[in-house]
Amino acid sequence: MKSILEIQTIEVHKLPSGESLNVKAYIFDSGLEGPTTYIQSSVHGAELQGNIVIYEMMKHIKNHDFKGKITFVPLANPFATNNRLGGHTQGRFNPITGHNWNRNYTDLMGLKEDQKNFSMKNFVTKFIDSPWEEIKKEYKIAIEKMIQSFENKMTYERGPQHNKFLNLKLQSMASDADFVLDLHTGPIATRYIYSAEYERDRVKDLSFPFNLSIPNKFAGAMDEACFMPWVELSKSFKSQGREIPIEFESYTVELGSEELINTQQGVIDSSRLLHFLYLRGQLVDDVRYSPPSGQYLSLLDDYKTYYSSDGGLFEYHLAPGDTFKKGDILGEYLLLQHIDEDFNEDKVRPKLVAVKDGIVINHCTTCSIGLGNELYQVMENYQELT
Ligand SMILES: [Zn+2]
Repeated sequence: MKSILEIQTIEVHKLPSGESLNVKAYIFDSGLEGPTTYIQSSVHGAELQGNIVIYEMMKHIKNHDFKGKITFVPLANPFATNNRLGGHTQGRFNPITGHNWNRNYTDLMGLKEDQKNFSMKNFVTKFIDSPWEEIKKEYKIAIEKMIQSFENKMTYERGPQHNKFLNLKLQSMASDADFVLDLHTGPIATRYIYSAEYERDRVKDLSFPFNLSIPNKFAGAMDEACFMPWVELSKSFKSQGREIPIEFESYTVELGSEELINTQQGVIDSSRLLHFLYLRGQLVDDVRYSPPSGQYLSLLDDYKTYYSSDGGLFEYHLAPGDTFKKGDILGEYLLLQHIDEDFNEDKVRPKLVAVKDGIVINHCTTCSIGLGNELYQVMENYQELT
């Protein structure tokens, strides 16, 4: 079987100087019945590992049998990727508006009917007795139309807002997907997944060591923007007496630390995601993948942040992925402003002590910290996925 690769160029921004910024979508269409998958990376400009993972995945797909369609959009936010300051990429927030690039997607379900030109009630009434496959097909078309309607309204009324323009374009490219993987990284981080509550028993298939379970709610991110229409569809059918499955899945995939690409890790990362696609019936044959030694899950409420209690320098004693016990020393401050003639070590070099058992998920990129800055993010009350 020969796969067909189509490369599309999509304009996502216009610079003040008049030039356009584009993204490239690499669309692999098998021409066979099967799932539709959408994978993007680097919506946060400094988070780069996803690009090498996409490259490795595309190499595999090109040479192996698959079903359905897979769209890859690496470097999905060129504005943020190019947003460098000295040796550092400031790609998390739009420097003009201050908005986080992954908190400004559109909750289609939160829009008024006239904003999206869609009524859930009418849709459910129309398809209440239809086969699930037909509902799914029609609803994907409806999602795309909702995005188009909202985009047109916004553009022709008072104009699009910068982040929204990009985010809607990406949402639109993912509108016909059954599976969406949004590839990110943490600051200095381990590998972990954000999954919705309803995906609790499925997230294991991604073979990542750490997993955070978020509510089935919208908080601005791509994964949520993509799963909300399906969560609401299922609720609306239920309210009219019919149970339909939420087959759709979307995940935020966190691939280690920002500002780095690493081929060796990229091969492992991509093998895990390819294995997931095999389990979902997209790849015909399984891949040789690297399962983690254990898989752990915490609820979002148990994802806790340690903040700096003073301003100064901070030495991290633990690395992402390390486990610790209550009472363990997580790190040590260096507060030179507290030096006096007594040279009191406790004042100058106070320690950060763990208040509860946990696992380090990520820590800040710098040791230069002000009062209230984030130091570590950790998983507490974690359970093993079996
Ligand atoms: Zn990110």
